[in-house]
Amino acid sequence: MEISGTAQHDAWQARALPPVEQLREDLWSIPVPMGGPLRYVSVYAFALDGGGLGLIDTGWESDEGWAALSDGLASLGGGITDVRGVLVTHLHFDHLGLAERVRQASGAWVAMHPADAAIVASPGHRDADRFIAEEVDFLVSLGADRDGAIADVGTSENLVHFTRMAVPDRHLEDGEHADFPGWRLRAVHTPGHTPGHLCFAEERTGLFFSGDHVLPRISPNISTTATGAEDPLRDYLDALASVGATEPAEVLPAHEWRFRGLADRTAALTAHHEHRLAELLDAIRTHPGGTPWQLAGHLTWSRPWEEYERRMRIFAVTETDAHLRLLASRGLVTSDGGPVPTWTLAVR
Ligand SMILES: [Zn+2]
Repeated sequence: MEISGTAQHDAWQARALPPVEQLREDLWSIPVPMGGPLRYVSVYAFALDGGGLGLIDTGWESDEGWAALSDGLASLGGGITDVRGVLVTHLHFDHLGLAERVRQASGAWVAMHPADAAIVASPGHRDADRFIAEEVDFLVSLGADRDGAIADVGTSENLVHFTRMAVPDRHLEDGEHADFPGWRLRAVHTPGHTPGHLCFAEERTGLFFSGDHVLPRISPNISTTATGAEDPLRDYLDALASVGATEPAEVLPAHEWRFRGLADRTAALTAHHEHRLAELLDAIRTHPGGTPWQLAGHLTWSRPWEEYERRMRIFAVTETDAHLRLLASRGLVTSDGGPVPTWTLAVR
């Protein structure tokens, strides 16, 4: 793997926001800041034939994010009102968050894969109390005690902004081309991180916009959710194998920095999950009959398990559950099928 976004990487080392960069005559990346360890989302802005701009992703919804996106577009001689269309890689708030504001200011269309569009439009995603109830029930089904799950999920004030995200007005299926005149941007369905995650392959330049499916440094979170896929890790590894079989000119991810060497990176991400699967299988061997919640506590994490709480703990447990489901698909483990399933090695 070779880092091609060296200005982004330098900024990362200096703990600074990277600059707006012109990547081609008619293509730019604009960093939109967000809280948390990822620091920013790279929004890609395309000049369209016939005038106007197209975006891939929009950034985390906040006044600071809005200012960064507006100023970024101004620095390349445009503005929010020039946006004709927004392609959203997936439903998470750092990607879809600002789309509603962009749409209201510009009249742009917003396009997503139908699987993520359906989740954004679902009752549990339009109402914070319902969202919380569904997530608490889901965590209880993984072995959480109800009070702990309620504390981990948090209050509705913290979640209400998620319920106001744009419901897309256009759908893009795998293989369809985006309506960006002058470009040949093909949607590549890459489920796993979310059920409807899309990457975009630009056929004229050989650029590959990887969203959160492939990032150069971190392994994207692959978790089960109340409304998501049955076996998201299997979906993810299948999608990694299919994009890893291509070798684009450059990979343009939604976080961190641009790079070359997609096949090397997908191989490393696959190896990471196989290592995790082996570790979980060992944990089930030594602690048979555990719930996902209990088994998560037997895995190694970047900090002592006792320090995990709230979102960190939810991610860890739902990620463990995703690994359990893939082990079950492979016939290596089996659950007792109860309302809170417990897991043992499969008898072979
Ligand atoms: Zn993201």
